[in-house]
Amino acid sequence: MRKLIQGIVDFRKNLTPESRALFAQLALGQKPDALFIACSDSRVVPNLFASTNPGDVFVLRNIGNLIPPASSESQETCVQAAIEFAVLSLNVSNIIVCGHSECGAMLALSGGADVACCPHLTSWLKYGDESVNKVKNGFILNPALSKHNQISQVNVLQQMEHITSYSFVQERIENKKLRVHGWWFDIAQADVYCYEPSVNQFILIDEEESKLILDRLG
Ligand SMILES: [Zn+2]
Repeated sequence: MRKLIQGIVDFRKNLTPESRALFAQLALGQKPDALFIACSDSRVVPNLFASTNPGDVFVLRNIGNLIPPASSESQETCVQAAIEFAVLSLNVSNIIVCGHSECGAMLALSGGADVACCPHLTSWLKYGDESVNKVKNGFILNPALSKHNQISQVNVLQQMEHITSYSFVQERIENKKLRVHGWWFDIAQADVYCYEPSVNQFILIDEEESKLILDRLG
């Protein structure tokens, strides 16, 4: 907490005139082109590893980067509200679902961590059950990974499926107004990977892969 408070003092002291101008401009409104869905994990900092500025991405974070499917009878309105606002009001043209290595939620789903102490968390994790079942049934993207990291990668695809279950998302994808991307952050290497359907694997986003991604965007 000490670091957090000192950070606010330092931020205020070191704010450049350019940054002040950017914030003044952003006070008039936001126009991010991407909704970034990531885990709440303290080690996953999208603005840092994607070098983004304030105003660039609309961020939704929750435990396990989970998205209740449209058919769900749950009342997880926080997630649904963020998706609706980003897509229907901000008109983002990209949604990124980003998982990560060593995810505590994936560890719990794989049976490697006990969350019986947290009933709401236990209930929330059900949106990752299909990911676990897929891995159990042999759907593995990278056999070199540990079990919870395998689940984590498959979970990205599962949550991409969940987000496209919303009719307004599906409609925009069909009309080429929206794309859904699957990313995965490797904490130990500080590397970000992108799911490539053509090879059914997560590929490191280096200069070559970034060109492929940008070419697809047109
Ligand atoms: Zn996590």
